[in-house]
This record gives sequence, structure tokens and C-alpha cells, in this order.
Amino acid sequence: MGGLRQYAIPFKGLKEGKHDYHFVVDNSFFEHFESSEVKRGIVNVKVELIKHIQFLELQFDLYGKITVDCDRCLEPFVIKIMHRDMLYVRFGEKTLEQSDDLLILADSENEVRLDQLIYEYIHLALPIQRIHPELDGISGCDPEMMEKLNAHHADDPENASEDPRWEKLKGLIKK
Ligand SMILES: [Zn+2]
Repeated sequence: MGGLRQYAIPFKGLKEGKHDYHFVVDNSFFEHFESSEVKRGIVNVKVELIKHIQFLELQFDLYGKITVDCDRCLEPFVIKIMHRDMLYVRFGEKTLEQSDDLLILADSENEVRLDQLIYEYIHLALPIQRIHPELDGISGCDPEMMEKLNAHHADDPENASEDPRWEKLKGLIKK
């Protein structure tokens, strides 16, 4: 596998000032993260790096298309994502993730690894609720799947009325 080493910026020897980078994330990227919610997608990652004397400033712009499973009919569909984030890199004795937007990098390092960051940014860009968008006021959900799901619910009317969690779930589905 190509691995994730390609998602890195070697900064030693760079001149002070602005430098632009472009990375592309595709399906193979997500295979490296077992617990990834995202399995398929293509995302452009533009990085504007500004090298200052004492630190690095990185601005990330991500845009692309991700395949997610619909919360309602469970069928996969494609959503567009966009995300901007900042990272500051300072230098110290050892590498340490200080906070979401501050990384301390050991003096001995000569590149900034971006794979984990890109992975996190993509997940941050996902909407919490993922449901097929409506087209002209009509649900974009797979009608066959919806019928199957509804039929399955109807099979068990007793449980449906007795279990309060089920009532709550139905309420959520209707919304
Ligand atoms: Zn759906």
C-alpha cells in the first residue's frame, strides 16, 4: 500500500513565508483507519503553510464528496463536505499534541505528518444527522428500503407499543 507517508510536509530548508500544498484523499486513505466512519470518498486538501522564524502556521481547506449511510433508510449516499481548520506548530524537546490547534514538534523532526489531522478534519466536517436530501419535497430515501423497514416494524406491534424506547425511536424517525 502507498501508505500515509505521502501526507506530510517536509519543512526543514523551507524559506520563510507562504508555501502551498495540495493533497488528495481517496478510498485507500480510509482503509488505514479501521474505526473510520467513512469508508469511501474523495477529498481535496489544500494547505497553506506560512513559515515564521519560531513557528509554522497551517491553514487547511478541505472539500470533497463522502459516501455515508442514511440514518433513515440505511442506504449509502454521497454528501459534499467543506471544512477549514488551522494548526500552529511550535518546537520543543519532544512531540506533543498540545491542543486541537497547537502541535509541539520535537526539534529532531523535519516534517509535519498530516494523515491523522486530515482524518479528524473529515470527520468534523460530517453532518451529525445524515439523511437523503429531499427532491421537490419528496424524500430521497430508497422507497423499497423504507417499505421493508416499515413492514419489519409492523411485524411486532406488541413490542412497539410496550417499549418506551421504541416509541422514542419512532418519534425520531418521523422527524
Ligand atoms: Zn435515506
